[in-house]
Amino acid sequence: MPKILRAVLLGLVCAACLLAASRNLEIYWIDAEGGAATLIVSPSGESLLVDTANRTPDDRDAKRIFAATQQAGLHKIDMLLTTHFHSDHIGAMPALVKLIPIGMYMDHGESVEIARPQVAAAYKAYVEQSAGKRRILKAGDRIPLKGVDVEVIMSAGQAITKALKGAGAPNASCADFKPHGAEPDPDNDQSVGFVLKFGKFRFIDMGDLTWNYEQKLVCPANLIGTVDLFQTSHHGLDRSNSPQFVWALQPKVAIMNDGPRKGGPPSVFDILRHSPGLEDIWQVHLALGTPKEVNTGEDMIANLGTSAECKGISLKVSVEPNGRYTVTNQRNGFSKTYQAKP
Ligand SMILES: [Zn+2]
Ligand SMILES: [Zn+2]
Repeated sequence: MPKILRAVLLGLVCAACLLAASRNLEIYWIDAEGGAATLIVSPSGESLLVDTANRTPDDRDAKRIFAATQQAGLHKIDMLLTTHFHSDHIGAMPALVKLIPIGMYMDHGESVEIARPQVAAAYKAYVEQSAGKRRILKAGDRIPLKGVDVEVIMSAGQAITKALKGAGAPNASCADFKPHGAEPDPDNDQSVGFVLKFGKFRFIDMGDLTWNYEQKLVCPANLIGTVDLFQTSHHGLDRSNSPQFVWALQPKVAIMNDGPRKGGPPSVFDILRHSPGLEDIWQVHLALGTPKEVNTGEDMIANLGTSAECKGISLKVSVEPNGRYTVTNQRNGFSKTYQAKP
């Protein structure tokens, strides 16, 4: 090969190397009309999908998840984490695997609602689909996403027993905790929750973990510490998101994966807005049952109408290795940049 050509080729390879080394971590909140589907893509291009939203006759949510994988340039989903076995978290999985392969399946173990025929059917389909590729997660386990530290802090109702690094301070607000009654859909209590660290940036997703179970992580001591970005638990419903939990985390940014008629009651906005250090709330949907002025600013809401007219726009976060992160509303291109806590 001529010397000059070799030099040019080497230069190209090196440029590609540099590009790969400086790539961002990206997270997409796919609109599932009040279901959950959060796609995480590591700088190396490895992917972790958290939940697969709803099953509909037209495979709406499977197609929306697939569209996000295409935007991210994925040929497969390396890992699927199913936080729990409710239809708004596992519904689109059978349709999704027909569109894009899934490498590995992770969950909390058998559903505690197996006596309910609908849950049993979804669970059976999951067990069959994940055969030989399934891993049951326990608190303290690590999810092997390359270049990113993802630690499970809650699974099957059990919390980590040791505080995360730098955490463990007593939580004074626990004295004011008012417990809720028993959860009517107890698989929510079993949700897998995790903290993701990328450089200084910290993100938390607890699935649909409920009000009483949140206390296991933050009372009497805060075992988690603080985070930068909080995916509001349970679509922003008031069955989760207790002040003891949210105020312990002190997120700078909250992203609510609500639907037009699910999540986002005024009481949850109130708790979020009283959280120390909170700068912004972003919403996947305008909460139509909540006064418009209680919702966040329209620029920061991905979808404004009813489900029937909804285009299913997602929110996206891009996290730089230096800890700067930018949230973008893919409806209007509106974005804001934040700095991870030191
Ligand atoms: Zn849910
Ligand atoms: Zn649920």
